[in-house]
Amino acid sequence: MPYSTDNAFRPFCSERCKLIDLGAWASESYRVPDESNPPELLELDPFKVDD
Ligand SMILES: [Zn+2]
Repeated sequence: MPYSTDNAFRPFCSERCKLIDLGAWASESYRVPDESNPPELLELDPFKVDD
């Protein structure tokens, strides 16, 4: 469904889409990190040099 300038639910095409998107965003934000699988960032060592 295309966006419409007179659509009260912008940037969503409808209230239903808005609720679905916000629900997806919320569940993503509140997801608890899996401690058994640490992010790669923790493994980076910017000061490591070859010797
Ligand atoms: Zn939609």
